[in-house]
Amino acid sequence: MNATKFMQDFANFVNAGFPYIYIPSYEEERITNAIKNTISNKDLIKIDRKLYAWTQTDGLVSDDTKVRDTSNPINAIESVAKSNEDAIYIFKDFHIYFGGDRNSRPDYAVIRKLRDIIPTLKSSRKTIVFISSKLVIPCDMEKEISILDFSLPNEDEIRTLINELIDGLNPENVSLTEDDKTLLSRSALGLTMQEAENAFCRAIVNLKGLNKNALSIIHEEKNQVVKKTGVLEFVKSDLDINDIGGLENLKKWLIRRNNSWSEKAKEYNLPAPKGVLITGIPGCGKSLTAKAMSAIWGLPLLKLDMGKIFGGIVGSSEENMRKAIATAEAVAPSILWVDEIEKGFSGLKSGGDSGTSARVFGTFLTWMQEKTAPVFVIATANDISSLPPELLRKGRFDEIFFVDLPTSKEREKIFSVHLKKRMKNSNIHHEIEITDEICRELANESIGYVGAEIEQIVIASMYEAFYADRGLRKDDILKSIRETVPLSSTQREQILALREWAKERAVLATAVEDRESAAPDGNDDGDFVNHQGGRIVDFDL
Ligand code: ADP
Repeated sequence: MNATKFMQDFANFVNAGFPYIYIPSYEEERITNAIKNTISNKDLIKIDRKLYAWTQTDGLVSDDTKVRDTSNPINAIESVAKSNEDAIYIFKDFHIYFGGDRNSRPDYAVIRKLRDIIPTLKSSRKTIVFISSKLVIPCDMEKEISILDFSLPNEDEIRTLINELIDGLNPENVSLTEDDKTLLSRSALGLTMQEAENAFCRAIVNLKGLNKNALSIIHEEKNQVVKKTGVLEFVKSDLDINDIGGLENLKKWLIRRNNSWSEKAKEYNLPAPKGVLITGIPGCGKSLTAKAMSAIWGLPLLKLDMGKIFGGIVGSSEENMRKAIATAEAVAPSILWVDEIEKGFSGLKSGGDSGTSARVFGTFLTWMQEKTAPVFVIATANDISSLPPELLRKGRFDEIFFVDLPTSKEREKIFSVHLKKRMKNSNIHHEIEITDEICRELANESIGYVGAEIEQIVIASMYEAFYADRGLRKDDILKSIRETVPLSSTQREQILALREWAKERAVLATAVEDRESAAPDGNDDGDFVNHQGGRIVDFDL
């Protein structure tokens, strides 16, 4: 949402006579300017409105007037109610009175007063706008307060900032091409204007001017900011598509959607993809795929921790979700990895958290449905039977994949991936060659083992060989397989339940060729046939 969209939405709220608008943001100055621009735009708001701002230190102030004795919030609210002016009142930091400060409780007198004046506000041209760094809304006022998001600065706005900063520098100390400026502006996406300014100023001090090396300082700052959201982090990984053994169907689907946000794709009239839900048995490569996506598409990967979304006081879960969405959009094009999505929304059924889950879920769903920013969502889930059906409806995710226990062909590939990874140092003489036959033999010996277990088997056998002071042998691996009890052996019921769920709803991540190739080993009992006609391979128990 750019500033113009904000102005339009703001004007709509004001024209419709909404009494309270809440804008969760740190960017008081940019918002105040946008509000000023909206009021002075006759196409947006026809009837003149005066603008007041309230802070605890100054009380109500407008350009030419300071209203006496209004630093007390109740006095300020009373003064708004009594005034005959058509006006917009910006109240700053009211989250404190709504109980949003770590140590504060809701101030019921203030809340009561705000509720008392609702009829007065509705029958006049007066709007109160709360700008707060935190989104905290008292339960009693939920219906009366409309939330409006103010987007982080876009590339053009940051470019303007860079140009303004350059104007203040000695030209000798600036070495930036237009392309460099584009690179720098893009790198600062996701920061507030203030944060971007701080980061660039820090770069100017460090570099005694401004040049392309500012990039690393901006990245550092951005990492900090993303971390500070408390729920998001940048995931850097050197994994790529070759690190995923099997799951060819899923990989093919993802590769096909590369560049889907390019101008070329738009010209081709392709809709931008929304995202994918990858479900299935733990340890089979869901997170691995999410991490490898960053390299496959060459986009930054942001991981959203669902558990942490629901960590704090009332109201903050919603705010956490909004912040995460805003940050992911600001760094777009990007990939937002929602890890263990079931953790966030499984509380919906129990209804034990007075509607918080439902509101956070609503925010997420609406965003998934309406998002236009190029943020591709990869949601991963181990237990998705508890996910609400709304999330699985068409229009949310483009596809739902099910990652089953690896088939024999896939285990072959997984062994190959991990053996190659561990044996790449040519100075060490290993007593095994990574051939198709050997990988097939290992795969046949490891029915029911997941990728994570195969990785651990390879590592454990390397330890054995290292301890014996020699290279790795096939027998080390076979021994390690025998000594590992696969989790699937004790979880037959859960796995069958997952498969049953997936039967109707999901597409298999395993390619048809890999599924069929498992048939001759005698273990393919085919627990069911999914809607693509692919059989899911059973495992020996
Ligand atoms: P989950 O499905 O629970 O998200 P992960 O992707 O975290 O499982 O798997 C854990 C580790 O196991 C991975 O980091 C990887 O090393 C290994 N692994 C799992 N599946 C595969 C696979 N298909 N190919 C290669 N390695 C795998």
